[in-house]
Amino acid sequence: MKRRALVAGNWKMNGSRDSNASLVHDIVFEIKRFPDIDVLVCPPAPYLDATGRQLEGSAIQLGGQNLSEQEKPGAFTGEIHGGMLRDVGCAYVIVGHSERRALYGESDRLVADKFSAALTSGLIPILCIGETLQEREQGQTEAVLARQMKAVLDGSGIQAFKQAVVAYEPVWAIGTGKTATPEQAQDAHAFIRGQLAAADAKIANSTRILYGGSVKAENAESLFNCPDVDGGLIGGASLKAGEFVAICAAAQ
Ligand code: PEP
Repeated sequence: MKRRALVAGNWKMNGSRDSNASLVHDIVFEIKRFPDIDVLVCPPAPYLDATGRQLEGSAIQLGGQNLSEQEKPGAFTGEIHGGMLRDVGCAYVIVGHSERRALYGESDRLVADKFSAALTSGLIPILCIGETLQEREQGQTEAVLARQMKAVLDGSGIQAFKQAVVAYEPVWAIGTGKTATPEQAQDAHAFIRGQLAAADAKIANSTRILYGGSVKAENAESLFNCPDVDGGLIGGASLKAGEFVAICAAAQ
């Protein structure tokens, strides 16, 4: 089955009102050329509302970069409830990005709770998983991916993946300029799909698995051509309009 590709831009903690407006202005028109893929941008939280308004009427969707694991809003200073993301127009939210796991101590359990909270709020979680360089060198890549997937499968069940996306993001490739080879990406993606298939082959076959880690215009096509790679989660390159549009073109 051919899955519809998704290209998601993770702007991380970058941008300003002016630079975001200009980036969106520069991509909105170009993206019309790619009706066969889904395109998403994930700005920092303070800019979601303004970016969402600017995207109104375009095919580009809006996503959050993080959300609270709390099921209900309330006294959680500094946190963002999934319902608030929905309220400002988000359809997706990134969950368990390696920067949050490594820098903010997000455990597999917390990531699983955030995944579940996203679904409860009607958001599509993009679950990020991936191994560090040390884990890869020690031959632990599959064990790490299996552990990270299991936490979420145990928490939300396989049916949840009808409304979820997985992003394979090897930590050693994020923001480093080092990209996984298409073979490395395909092997990991096939393994992740296998983890889903062990629970439900049909859901596994329809779940989109994105690759993330130093994707650029020059390497996007070879990665997206892999049979189990269904698009990309793009960090640094999503901040440059021409580069992001070229990556979308490679996914079309
Ligand atoms: C990311 O932040 O998810 C990412 C993949 O970053 P980069 O493309 O910059 O490696």
